[in-house]
Amino acid sequence: MTMPPTEHADLLVIGGGSGGIACAIRAARHGARVILFEPRELGGTCVNRGCVPKKAMWLAAELAEAQRIAVAVGFNSAPGALDWKRFVAHREAYVARSRASYGQRFAQLGIRVVAAAARLAGAGVVHADGINYHTPHILLATGARPRPLAVPGAERAIDSDGFFALDTCPERVAVLGGGYIGVELGGVLAALGSRVSLFPRSRLLSRFDAELGAWLTEAMRGRGIEVRENFALARLDGKPGAVFVHGKDASRHGPFDVVLAATGRIPNVEDVGLEAAGVALDARGFIATDAFENTSVDGIHAVGDVNGKIELTPVAIAAGRALAERLFGGQPDARLDYRDVPSVVFSHPPIGSVGLSEADARAQHGDAVRVRHSAFKPMLWSLAGSEERMHLKLVCVGEDERIVGLHGIGPGIDEILQGFAVALRMGARYADFQRTVAIHPTAAEEFVTMG
Ligand code: FAD
Repeated sequence: MTMPPTEHADLLVIGGGSGGIACAIRAARHGARVILFEPRELGGTCVNRGCVPKKAMWLAAELAEAQRIAVAVGFNSAPGALDWKRFVAHREAYVARSRASYGQRFAQLGIRVVAAAARLAGAGVVHADGINYHTPHILLATGARPRPLAVPGAERAIDSDGFFALDTCPERVAVLGGGYIGVELGGVLAALGSRVSLFPRSRLLSRFDAELGAWLTEAMRGRGIEVRENFALARLDGKPGAVFVHGKDASRHGPFDVVLAATGRIPNVEDVGLEAAGVALDARGFIATDAFENTSVDGIHAVGDVNGKIELTPVAIAAGRALAERLFGGQPDARLDYRDVPSVVFSHPPIGSVGLSEADARAQHGDAVRVRHSAFKPMLWSLAGSEERMHLKLVCVGEDERIVGLHGIGPGIDEILQGFAVALRMGARYADFQRTVAIHPTAAEEFVTMG
């Protein structure tokens, strides 16, 4: 029997998405010889099928909303429809530029990319394209993919990958799922002209502070989006361009041109050879890792969506970098602190959230919790005659009102949140906010002026 040829590296990275790339680059900067395996486009989900193209679509949708506001305040121009194909060309050119920048950085740092799927062939061994690669350290960063619908007629739905393949704005759309991807893509489509119905299993954004979900539901309904809470999906039927959604309560909805399934994501753990190396999964089916991103096998690590801790790009990046610092940067205690990770939902209007929800704070701190609110009409909306309000919320704990949660929905919150997340992490008290002089007139000032 002939043995496959072998190669050696200090670090083998399986998966060229946010986490894998961040770890590879940081390790190479510390002088490690790195080989990264990626059969698809570099950049993974975020750059190619996630955050970046999604944000591009959201920006287009924001422009559509801004046009409507412009008309309401007196601009003498009718809002026009988006030339979808032309915008997608801009979007994809941006994505291609982001991807190309990785290739350049890898070349500068001497990181080798093998454009093939890889699998574990035992502890310290990775097999790809007929070659066995040996190393003391393997990083599994294979990410996640949309969860397939498990109902009859599931093939009639598209998922978030299918959303990015659309070449026109569909007229009638059903979105199955009320998580952040569902509300974001549904909101984009509605702003760009689709008639959208959302079918969340329970309520919108059930993993966020409950009031955020309620405020978003009101805002989406105010924009003409149908939101059917507590929907239990039974099946899909109909023909392409006229698909019907059936509930377990025997209700029938449609026809829809597009049914978009956004019912969660599942980790890419098959075909990676986990069994060959003895890497254990957790109860939810993600790769089990400790606080230092070690798997159950010495020398095999996992970061990003595949370990299921917090499925966001900056989390995958920060965890990947911390791991590289620990393994190659002389920082044996380096690890990511997963507390107080800020996140934004690019809905219309956007949502920002960091720290504990009110319910979690009450569960942990009981009566020591005090919640402060502000609801107001942002100036531009008010100028346009809208009654819609922006909502901000501080969740505070104890006599000195340490801020443990900060949440909001309204224009600009996506950009406002980052700085306040720093303050929260530093242990800011309500009195610190009150002592900070406001920036006027802004929406953000409400955080430091609310009573
Ligand atoms: P990925 O980026 O998924 O990369 C994994 C890579 O591994 C893939 O390229 C895959 O091809 C490769 N791979 C798989 N198997 C193998 C194998 N056997 N061998 C070699 N390579 C393999 N996050 C945010 O922070 N902000 C957002 O606004 C945001 N929006 C999103 C919108 C959408 C529609 C989606 C789907 C996701 C969004 N996310 C967002 C989440 C974000 O994209 C992920 O958290 C992030 O990409 C995770 O990075 P990762 O490195 O773990 O995995």
